[in-house]
Amino acid sequence: MPLTRFETFQTLFPAEPAWRFRQIERALFDPRVNGWQDISNLPQDMRAALAENVAWSSIAEANVYASKDGSTRKALVQLHDREKIETVLMKNKRGEWSVCVSSQVGCSMNCSFCATGRMGLRRNLTADEIIDQLRFWYYFLRDKKLDGRISNIVMMGMGEPLANYENVKSTLRQWLACTDIGPNHITVSTVGLLPFLQKILQDAAWPPVRIAISLHSADETLRKKIVPTTTGNYLAELSQWIKKYLQTKASNKRHVTFEYVLLRGVNDSVRDAKLLADFVTTTGRVKVNLIPFNDINDAALQRSNNTDEFAAVLKKCGVTVTVRQSAGLDIMAACGQLANSLYPRP
Ligand code: SF4
Repeated sequence: MPLTRFETFQTLFPAEPAWRFRQIERALFDPRVNGWQDISNLPQDMRAALAENVAWSSIAEANVYASKDGSTRKALVQLHDREKIETVLMKNKRGEWSVCVSSQVGCSMNCSFCATGRMGLRRNLTADEIIDQLRFWYYFLRDKKLDGRISNIVMMGMGEPLANYENVKSTLRQWLACTDIGPNHITVSTVGLLPFLQKILQDAAWPPVRIAISLHSADETLRKKIVPTTTGNYLAELSQWIKKYLQTKASNKRHVTFEYVLLRGVNDSVRDAKLLADFVTTTGRVKVNLIPFNDINDAALQRSNNTDEFAAVLKKCGVTVTVRQSAGLDIMAACGQLANSLYPRP
């Protein structure tokens, strides 16, 4: 693993105080700054040494693809070790932009509906590599002169964020310190690995961003088929965790989201909806986000044709429910499709 920007800085300038690196972190998000030489509040010799020793971005190359409707861009990004990841820019309902970032190269969680899971895990991303996906889109909007600010970040790209806990935490802290995007507009989406969820409860340095749990079934046996990391007694422990989280880490207005990909004939029946509604009532402030399944070239999996009825059952039971619109299907940029490819693989 290469040294991080901070480690390289410390190696080059061991006597420099910590605030010096804070200056650098802020400059990384300054749209007027295009490289180390432009950071005018650093001494000239420091700029020269940084330019010689530290890449300005951890993204070595990127190809950007636009959906036909112009609402979505996907960047297929090459890192300095030639590993590849994807990151997505989407127009949101307010006419602003949301960025979806990856936290790992591939993923070991192997969720049944997800193309990334089929890659397996290649490695964790460094904090710099996660941070720089957002910087990449800032520069993209600036250079392409596209209107609208980036207002939201979702960590729902390739990888399981909590399996890369420390790097994800550093990333979140840096985004919050250096951009105008607040914690209510940053969401970490996780399959809900209980040891890491428990760690969040104990971790005073974990930032107050939103948490979304990829639930996909409130039947534990079925969930294990969709999300193989499901452990015994998972739902009861998750329910306990949510209650503690809402009591100790979240403001009164804050909720947890359950993400639920609707798979035809798998988890989309009225019974499944009622089970989900019952589970939600055990947890406290939880909203449900229903996600249409997006094609990953697997004939065994199909998009549900029962979304309206499923949502109606939840609403009737008093559950707050939203239905996500798929964006970027034609460039394989929608939820579950990220696998470093543009078209369904044979
Ligand atoms: S849905 Fe997320 S956690 Fe599951 S395999 Fe895909 S990337 Fe990994």
